[in-house]
Amino acid sequence: MTDSTCLFCRIISGEIPSEKVYEDDQVTAFKDINPAAPVHILVIPNAHIASLAEVESAHQDLMGRLVVTFKEIAAAQGLAERGYRLVVNCGEDGGQTVGHLHFHLLGGRNLNWPPG
Ligand code: 5GP
Ligand code: ZN
Repeated sequence: MTDSTCLFCRIISGEIPSEKVYEDDQVTAFKDINPAAPVHILVIPNAHIASLAEVESAHQDLMGRLVVTFKEIAAAQGLAERGYRLVVNCGEDGGQTVGHLHFHLLGGRNLNWPPG
């Protein structure tokens, strides 16, 4: 469930400091250290899942919980009215650099589309 060599597992445990904005028994959210927008939150499952490619049917309840949590965090961050974007980078071509599933919640400015 936890990988002691994983950066985000160590952020969840508090071993590595972060600016957490939400935390429960299944989900943690914290500010990205290098924000790409005025609001840039990383929302992650507390269980170590390496990427979207590792998600299995056993994770369905957790994935549903994450979706509800995105909406709540977006509202708490003041993004509900103007809107926001969720991004998952998966694997090398997807640009994933940290091997613990994470959802980027971005907002606070007009976001360009399509991404690079
Ligand atoms: P990826 O490129 O894997 O989709 O996203 C990884 C994200 O993690 C990047 O946006 C990067 O800025 C962020 N990040 C990397 N290391 C740290 C860290 O130590 N603390 C925080 N809060 N964010 C980090
Ligand atoms: Zn991890």
